[in-house]
Amino acid sequence: MAVCDLCGSDVNVTEYQVKPKDEKVNLCETCKTQIESGNLDENHFNCLNDSMWSENPAVKVLSYRLLKQLGRGDLLDMMYLEEDEQAWADYEEEVLKDSNGNILKDGDTVTVIKDLEVKGAGKTVKRGTTVKNIRMCDTPGHISCKVDGIGSIYLKTEFLKKI
Ligand SMILES: [Zn+2]
Repeated sequence: MAVCDLCGSDVNVTEYQVKPKDEKVNLCETCKTQIESGNLDENHFNCLNDSMWSENPAVKVLSYRLLKQLGRGDLLDMMYLEEDEQAWADYEEEVLKDSNGNILKDGDTVTVIKDLEVKGAGKTVKRGTTVKNIRMCDTPGHISCKVDGIGSIYLKTEFLKKI
């Protein structure tokens, strides 16, 4: 049975992605709800005292972020993160907007507002093309998506319009 990687509870444990990597941790309902709402109960998150020493980088990185949110500099000072773990922990989700300033999210559908050449592929994504199920990606200012007849590409969000 799965238990929460942070507090050890087994109540409604589900996976949670530690963005931007595709690495997941198990979280109980209590931890997940608080993390998603941003309202952290300091008493509940005493569990970070243990989880911060996890061998699993994703658990370590998430613990680091939460300790930071809780202002626990005393514990953060004791943690050691590898360089790439530190970059991961410091990652802040970029807010991407379309040509009209609407915020784009994973799963949105957009249309392309001008012909866009796909570098190196000799193909063009035509103006008016509908792109479903866009995804956030590591390239600033871009989303990743699949376009029929072209494949998986990154598109600049300023040339997209959310439907
Ligand atoms: Zn938990």
